[in-house]
Amino acid sequence: MKTKSWTVDRKDDLSRSYPQISQAAALLKENELVAFPTETVYGLGANAQSDEAVAKIYQAKGRPSDNPLIVHVADKEQVKKIAAKIPPLAEKLMETFWPGPLTLVLPKQDGLSKLVTAGLETVAVRMPEDALALALIKESGLPIAAPSANLSGKPSPTLAEHVAHDLTGKIAGILDGGPTGVGVESTVVDCTGEVPVILRPGGITKEQLEEAVGTVEVDRALLKEGEAPKAPGMKYTHYAPKADLYIVKGSMEYLQSLVDQERAAGREAGVLTTEENRAAYDADAVLAAGWRSKPETIAAHLYEVLRQFDERDLDVIYSESFSEEGVGSAIMNRLMKAAGQRVLTENH
Ligand code: AMP
Ligand code: MG
Repeated sequence: MKTKSWTVDRKDDLSRSYPQISQAAALLKENELVAFPTETVYGLGANAQSDEAVAKIYQAKGRPSDNPLIVHVADKEQVKKIAAKIPPLAEKLMETFWPGPLTLVLPKQDGLSKLVTAGLETVAVRMPEDALALALIKESGLPIAAPSANLSGKPSPTLAEHVAHDLTGKIAGILDGGPTGVGVESTVVDCTGEVPVILRPGGITKEQLEEAVGTVEVDRALLKEGEAPKAPGMKYTHYAPKADLYIVKGSMEYLQSLVDQERAAGREAGVLTTEENRAAYDADAVLAAGWRSKPETIAAHLYEVLRQFDERDLDVIYSESFSEEGVGSAIMNRLMKAAGQRVLTENH
Protein backbone atom coordinates (compact mmCIF):
# COMPACT_ATOMS: atom_id res chain seq x y z
CA MET A 1 0.00 0.00 0.00
CA LYS A 2 1.19 3.51 -0.79
CA THR A 3 1.23 5.69 2.31
CA LYS A 4 0.26 9.31 1.63
CA SER A 5 1.91 12.01 3.67
CA TRP A 6 0.62 15.52 4.32
CA THR A 7 2.32 18.30 6.21
CA VAL A 8 0.21 20.70 8.20
CA ASP A 9 1.54 24.06 9.32
CA ARG A 10 0.26 24.67 12.81
CA LYS A 11 0.41 28.41 12.31
CA ASP A 12 -2.45 28.09 9.80
CA ASP A 13 -6.07 28.47 10.84
CA LEU A 14 -7.17 24.83 11.04
CA SER A 15 -10.80 25.69 11.70
CA ARG A 16 -11.12 26.78 8.05
CA SER A 17 -11.36 24.28 5.20
CA TYR A 18 -7.96 22.62 4.90
CA PRO A 19 -7.28 20.22 1.99
CA GLN A 20 -4.81 17.98 3.86
CA ILE A 21 -7.29 17.46 6.69
CA SER A 22 -10.19 16.89 4.27
CA GLN A 23 -8.22 14.23 2.38
CA ALA A 24 -7.21 12.49 5.59
CA ALA A 25 -10.80 12.59 6.89
CA ALA A 26 -12.07 11.16 3.58
CA LEU A 27 -9.75 8.16 4.02
CA LEU A 28 -11.04 7.62 7.58
CA LYS A 29 -14.60 7.61 6.19
CA GLU A 30 -13.50 4.96 3.67
CA ASN A 31 -12.40 2.81 6.66
CA GLU A 32 -8.69 3.36 5.98
CA LEU A 33 -6.02 4.11 8.61
CA VAL A 34 -4.58 7.60 9.08
CA ALA A 35 -1.92 8.57 11.62
CA PHE A 36 -2.21 12.02 13.20
CA PRO A 37 -0.54 13.99 15.98
CA THR A 38 -2.22 14.53 19.33
CA GLU A 39 -0.81 16.44 22.31
CA THR A 40 0.45 13.14 23.79
CA VAL A 41 1.87 10.97 20.97
CA TYR A 42 0.92 10.26 17.33
CA GLY A 43 -2.27 8.20 17.06
CA LEU A 44 -3.25 5.64 14.43
CA GLY A 45 -6.86 6.52 13.61
CA ALA A 46 -9.69 4.39 12.29
CA ASN A 47 -13.50 4.60 12.18
CA ALA A 48 -14.47 3.19 15.59
CA GLN A 49 -17.86 2.07 14.24
CA SER A 50 -16.38 -0.25 11.62
CA ASP A 51 -15.01 -3.74 12.30
CA GLU A 52 -13.22 -3.58 8.95
CA ALA A 53 -11.43 -0.34 9.87
CA VAL A 54 -10.56 -1.34 13.45
CA ALA A 55 -9.26 -4.75 12.36
CA LYS A 56 -6.73 -2.89 10.21
CA ILE A 57 -5.31 -1.17 13.33
CA TYR A 58 -4.56 -4.47 15.05
CA GLN A 59 -3.06 -5.83 11.85
CA ALA A 60 -0.86 -2.83 11.00
CA LYS A 61 0.51 -2.56 14.54
CA GLY A 62 0.74 -6.27 15.23
CA ARG A 63 -1.28 -5.49 18.37
CA PRO A 64 -2.75 -8.34 20.43
CA SER A 65 -6.53 -8.36 19.93
CA ASP A 66 -7.26 -8.41 23.70
CA ASN A 67 -5.74 -4.93 24.12
CA PRO A 68 -8.64 -2.46 23.71
CA LEU A 69 -8.38 0.92 21.99
CA ILE A 70 -9.17 4.46 23.08
CA VAL A 71 -11.98 6.17 21.18
CA HIS A 72 -11.25 9.81 20.38
CA VAL A 73 -14.02 12.38 20.13
CA ALA A 74 -14.18 16.05 19.08
CA ASP A 75 -16.81 17.15 21.60
CA LYS A 76 -18.66 15.97 24.69
CA GLU A 77 -21.88 15.35 22.70
CA GLN A 78 -20.14 12.48 20.89
CA VAL A 79 -19.53 10.73 24.22
CA LYS A 80 -23.25 10.28 24.71
CA LYS A 81 -23.37 8.13 21.58
CA ILE A 82 -20.54 5.91 22.85
CA ALA A 83 -21.09 5.62 26.59
CA ALA A 84 -24.25 4.11 28.11
CA LYS A 85 -23.90 6.34 31.15
CA ILE A 86 -21.76 9.29 32.24
CA PRO A 87 -21.44 9.19 36.06
CA PRO A 88 -21.24 12.63 37.76
CA LEU A 89 -17.63 11.94 38.63
CA ALA A 90 -16.76 11.42 34.94
CA GLU A 91 -18.72 14.54 34.08
CA LYS A 92 -16.57 16.52 36.51
CA LEU A 93 -13.34 15.07 35.09
CA MET A 94 -14.43 15.89 31.54
CA GLU A 95 -15.27 19.43 32.58
CA THR A 96 -11.92 19.90 34.28
CA PHE A 97 -9.47 18.13 31.96
CA TRP A 98 -11.04 17.95 28.48
CA PRO A 99 -9.81 18.59 25.94
CA GLY A 100 -6.60 17.04 27.26
CA PRO A 101 -4.49 13.94 28.02
CA LEU A 102 -7.11 12.15 30.14
CA THR A 103 -8.95 8.98 29.04
CA LEU A 104 -12.10 7.91 30.87
CA VAL A 105 -13.31 4.30 31.04
CA LEU A 106 -17.13 4.28 30.97
CA PRO A 107 -19.90 1.71 30.45
CA LYS A 108 -20.21 1.26 26.69
CA GLN A 109 -23.14 1.70 24.33
CA ASP A 110 -23.88 -0.42 21.27
CA GLY A 111 -22.80 0.90 17.90
CA LEU A 112 -19.04 0.72 18.25
CA SER A 113 -17.03 -2.04 16.64
CA LYS A 114 -16.65 -4.89 19.16
CA LEU A 115 -12.97 -4.99 18.28
CA VAL A 116 -12.47 -1.52 19.81
CA THR A 117 -13.35 -2.69 23.30
CA ALA A 118 -11.81 -6.15 22.89
CA GLY A 119 -15.02 -7.71 24.19
CA LEU A 120 -15.22 -5.60 27.38
CA GLU A 121 -18.45 -4.00 28.61
CA THR A 122 -16.63 -0.69 29.01
CA VAL A 123 -15.16 1.79 26.57
CA ALA A 124 -12.22 4.18 26.93
CA VAL A 125 -12.91 7.72 25.62
CA ARG A 126 -10.78 10.82 25.24
CA MET A 127 -11.11 14.28 23.73
CA PRO A 128 -7.65 15.42 22.66
CA GLU A 129 -6.56 19.03 22.97
CA ASP A 130 -4.46 19.14 19.82
CA ALA A 131 -6.13 21.43 17.24
CA LEU A 132 -5.12 19.22 14.31
CA ALA A 133 -6.47 16.05 15.98
CA LEU A 134 -9.73 17.83 16.81
CA ALA A 135 -10.09 19.21 13.28
CA LEU A 136 -9.56 15.75 11.77
CA ILE A 137 -12.06 14.03 14.08
CA LYS A 138 -14.63 16.77 13.53
CA GLU A 139 -14.24 16.65 9.75
CA SER A 140 -14.62 12.85 9.69
CA GLY A 141 -17.82 13.10 11.74
CA LEU A 142 -16.86 9.78 13.36
CA PRO A 143 -15.64 8.53 16.72
CA ILE A 144 -12.01 7.63 15.98
CA ALA A 145 -10.27 4.64 17.55
CA ALA A 146 -6.61 5.55 17.89
CA PRO A 147 -3.84 3.71 19.70
CA SER A 148 -0.29 5.00 19.43
CA ALA A 149 0.93 4.88 15.80
CA ASN A 150 3.89 2.55 16.37
CA LEU A 151 4.50 -1.15 15.85
CA SER A 152 3.32 -2.97 18.94
CA GLY A 153 6.18 -3.22 21.45
CA LYS A 154 8.14 -0.25 20.07
CA PRO A 155 8.35 3.17 21.73
CA SER A 156 5.34 5.37 20.92
CA PRO A 157 5.89 7.95 18.16
CA THR A 158 6.41 11.58 19.07
CA LEU A 159 7.45 12.64 15.54
CA ALA A 160 5.86 11.84 12.15
CA GLU A 161 9.23 10.29 11.18
CA HIS A 162 8.72 7.65 13.90
CA VAL A 163 5.34 6.74 12.40
CA ALA A 164 6.81 6.56 8.89
CA HIS A 165 9.62 4.33 10.16
CA ASP A 166 7.21 1.81 11.68
CA LEU A 167 4.15 1.93 9.41
CA THR A 168 5.03 3.10 5.87
CA GLY A 169 3.35 0.75 3.38
CA LYS A 170 0.92 -0.50 6.02
CA ILE A 171 -1.40 2.51 6.42
CA ALA A 172 -3.17 4.92 4.07
CA GLY A 173 -1.79 8.19 5.36
CA ILE A 174 0.24 10.23 7.85
CA LEU A 175 -0.63 13.79 8.85
CA ASP A 176 2.64 15.43 9.86
CA GLY A 177 2.08 18.22 12.35
CA GLY A 178 5.57 18.25 13.87
CA PRO A 179 6.56 17.05 17.35
CA THR A 180 3.87 16.17 19.91
CA GLY A 181 3.85 18.02 23.22
CA VAL A 182 3.39 15.84 26.31
CA GLY A 183 5.32 12.88 24.92
CA VAL A 184 3.77 10.16 27.09
CA GLU A 185 0.27 8.77 26.59
CA SER A 186 -2.91 9.90 28.31
CA THR A 187 -3.77 9.00 31.87
CA VAL A 188 -6.43 6.24 31.85
CA VAL A 189 -9.00 6.49 34.67
CA ASP A 190 -11.71 3.91 35.35
CA CYS A 191 -14.91 5.82 36.15
CA THR A 192 -17.26 2.85 36.50
CA GLY A 193 -16.93 2.51 40.30
CA GLU A 194 -17.49 4.73 43.34
CA VAL A 195 -13.92 6.02 43.36
CA PRO A 196 -11.93 6.79 40.21
CA VAL A 197 -9.02 4.40 39.63
CA ILE A 198 -5.90 5.23 37.63
CA LEU A 199 -5.25 2.29 35.29
CA ARG A 200 -2.35 3.97 33.50
CA PRO A 201 -0.37 7.02 34.68
CA GLY A 202 0.06 9.70 32.01
CA GLY A 203 -0.17 13.35 31.04
CA ILE A 204 -2.59 14.30 33.83
CA THR A 205 -1.14 13.54 37.27
CA LYS A 206 -2.78 11.89 40.27
CA GLU A 207 -2.30 15.16 42.15
CA GLN A 208 -4.26 17.08 39.49
CA LEU A 209 -7.07 14.51 39.50
CA GLU A 210 -7.37 14.59 43.28
CA GLU A 211 -7.58 18.35 43.27
CA ALA A 212 -10.62 18.07 40.99
CA VAL A 213 -12.53 15.11 42.47
CA GLY A 214 -11.00 14.19 45.82
CA THR A 215 -9.75 10.67 46.49
CA VAL A 216 -8.32 8.80 43.50
CA GLU A 217 -6.99 5.26 43.70
CA VAL A 218 -4.20 3.64 41.73
CA ASP A 219 -4.78 0.20 40.17
CA ARG A 220 -3.07 -2.37 42.39
CA ALA A 221 -1.28 -3.90 39.43
CA LEU A 222 0.61 -0.64 38.92
CA LEU A 223 1.85 -0.77 42.48
CA LYS A 224 2.53 -4.48 42.65
CA GLU A 225 4.04 -6.68 40.02
CA GLY A 226 2.42 -9.88 38.85
CA GLU A 227 -1.24 -8.93 39.26
CA ALA A 228 -3.53 -8.91 36.26
CA PRO A 229 -3.96 -5.25 35.29
CA LYS A 230 -7.44 -3.81 34.72
CA ALA A 231 -6.14 -1.90 31.71
CA PRO A 232 -5.52 -5.02 29.64
CA GLY A 233 -2.82 -3.40 27.53
CA MET A 234 -0.60 -2.80 30.53
CA LYS A 235 0.49 -6.42 30.70
CA TYR A 236 2.46 -6.29 27.46
CA THR A 237 6.11 -5.35 27.12
CA HIS A 238 6.25 -1.96 25.49
CA TYR A 239 8.60 0.70 24.29
CA ALA A 240 11.59 -1.62 24.38
CA PRO A 241 14.77 -0.60 22.57
CA LYS A 242 16.81 -3.36 20.85
CA ALA A 243 19.60 -3.30 23.44
CA ASP A 244 19.00 -4.61 26.96
CA LEU A 245 17.82 -1.70 29.09
CA TYR A 246 18.42 -1.50 32.86
CA ILE A 247 17.24 1.16 35.27
CA VAL A 248 19.92 2.11 37.73
CA LYS A 249 19.16 3.22 41.27
CA GLY A 250 22.28 4.65 42.82
CA SER A 251 25.05 7.15 42.24
CA MET A 252 26.41 8.31 38.89
CA GLU A 253 29.71 6.61 39.80
CA TYR A 254 27.87 3.32 40.20
CA LEU A 255 26.18 3.73 36.79
CA GLN A 256 29.55 4.55 35.19
CA SER A 257 31.10 1.44 36.80
CA LEU A 258 28.41 -0.72 35.15
CA VAL A 259 29.26 0.84 31.79
CA ASP A 260 32.97 0.26 32.36
CA GLN A 261 32.41 -3.42 33.15
CA GLU A 262 30.44 -3.94 29.94
CA ARG A 263 33.01 -2.16 27.80
CA ALA A 264 35.85 -4.11 29.41
CA ALA A 265 34.01 -7.25 28.31
CA GLY A 266 33.88 -5.94 24.73
CA ARG A 267 30.25 -4.85 24.74
CA GLU A 268 28.88 -1.49 23.59
CA ALA A 269 27.12 0.39 26.36
CA GLY A 270 24.84 3.44 26.31
CA VAL A 271 23.63 5.78 29.04
CA LEU A 272 20.19 7.41 29.26
CA THR A 273 20.62 10.51 31.35
CA THR A 274 19.65 14.17 31.68
CA GLU A 275 21.13 17.46 30.45
CA GLU A 276 22.40 18.17 33.96
CA ASN A 277 24.43 14.94 34.08
CA ARG A 278 25.36 14.06 30.51
CA ALA A 279 28.91 15.44 30.60
CA ALA A 280 29.77 13.21 33.55
CA TYR A 281 29.51 9.91 31.64
CA ASP A 282 31.89 8.14 29.30
CA ALA A 283 30.10 5.53 27.17
CA ASP A 284 29.47 4.49 23.55
CA ALA A 285 26.35 6.66 23.50
CA VAL A 286 25.28 9.17 26.11
CA LEU A 287 21.79 10.57 25.42
CA ALA A 288 19.88 13.06 27.53
CA ALA A 289 16.07 12.93 27.43
CA GLY A 290 15.63 16.37 28.98
CA TRP A 291 16.24 18.34 32.14
CA ARG A 292 15.91 16.61 35.49
CA SER A 293 14.80 19.96 36.89
CA LYS A 294 11.95 20.02 34.31
CA PRO A 295 10.39 16.53 34.22
CA GLU A 296 7.96 17.54 31.42
CA THR A 297 10.97 17.83 29.10
CA ILE A 298 11.95 14.24 29.93
CA ALA A 299 8.41 12.99 29.22
CA ALA A 300 8.43 14.90 25.92
CA HIS A 301 11.62 13.25 24.63
CA LEU A 302 11.77 9.85 26.33
CA TYR A 303 10.45 7.79 23.39
CA GLU A 304 12.55 9.75 20.90
CA VAL A 305 15.69 8.95 22.87
CA LEU A 306 14.74 5.26 23.19
CA ARG A 307 14.43 5.17 19.39
CA GLN A 308 17.77 6.97 18.95
CA PHE A 309 19.50 4.22 20.93
CA ASP A 310 18.24 1.75 18.30
CA GLU A 311 20.35 3.53 15.67
CA ARG A 312 23.54 2.98 17.69
CA ASP A 313 23.87 -0.81 17.72
CA LEU A 314 24.41 -1.03 21.46
CA ASP A 315 24.37 -4.20 23.54
CA VAL A 316 23.20 -2.61 26.75
CA ILE A 317 21.73 0.69 27.98
CA TYR A 318 21.82 1.93 31.56
CA SER A 319 19.24 4.55 32.48
CA GLU A 320 19.20 6.89 35.42
CA SER A 321 15.97 6.67 37.41
CA PHE A 322 13.56 9.51 38.12
CA SER A 323 11.33 10.81 40.87
CA GLU A 324 7.79 9.39 40.66
CA GLU A 325 6.17 12.67 41.58
CA GLY A 326 3.76 14.31 39.12
CA VAL A 327 4.50 13.37 35.53
CA GLY A 328 7.45 11.35 36.90
CA SER A 329 4.95 8.59 37.65
CA ALA A 330 4.27 8.19 33.90
CA ILE A 331 7.97 8.51 33.05
CA MET A 332 8.99 5.72 35.46
CA ASN A 333 6.02 3.54 34.41
CA ARG A 334 7.12 3.69 30.74
CA LEU A 335 10.82 3.30 31.55
CA MET A 336 10.13 0.27 33.74
CA LYS A 337 8.11 -1.32 30.94
CA ALA A 338 10.83 -0.52 28.40
CA ALA A 339 13.33 -2.18 30.74
CA GLY A 340 11.12 -5.23 31.32
CA GLN A 341 11.13 -4.16 35.02
CA ARG A 342 14.91 -4.73 35.34
CA VAL A 343 16.42 -2.52 38.04
CA LEU A 344 19.99 -2.49 39.33
CA THR A 345 20.39 -1.04 42.81
CA GLU A 346 23.68 0.11 44.28
CA ASN A 347 24.71 -1.62 47.52
CA HIS A 348 26.06 0.74 50.11
P1 AMP B 1 -2.83 2.75 23.62
O1 AMP B 1 -3.97 2.84 22.68
O2 AMP B 1 -1.68 1.98 23.10
O3 AMP B 1 -2.46 4.10 24.18
O4 AMP B 1 -3.38 1.93 24.87
C1 AMP B 1 -4.69 2.12 25.33
C2 AMP B 1 -4.74 1.85 26.80
O5 AMP B 1 -6.07 2.02 27.28
C3 AMP B 1 -4.35 0.41 27.12
O6 AMP B 1 -3.60 0.38 28.29
C4 AMP B 1 -5.70 -0.25 27.28
O7 AMP B 1 -5.64 -1.40 28.05
C5 AMP B 1 -6.52 0.86 27.93
N1 AMP B 1 -7.96 0.65 27.71
C6 AMP B 1 -8.63 0.82 26.57
N2 AMP B 1 -9.93 0.48 26.73
C7 AMP B 1 -10.09 0.09 28.01
C8 AMP B 1 -11.20 -0.37 28.79
N3 AMP B 1 -12.41 -0.50 28.26
N4 AMP B 1 -10.97 -0.67 30.07
C9 AMP B 1 -9.74 -0.54 30.61
N5 AMP B 1 -8.66 -0.12 29.92
C10 AMP B 1 -8.82 0.20 28.64
MG1 MG C 1 0.48 2.22 22.52
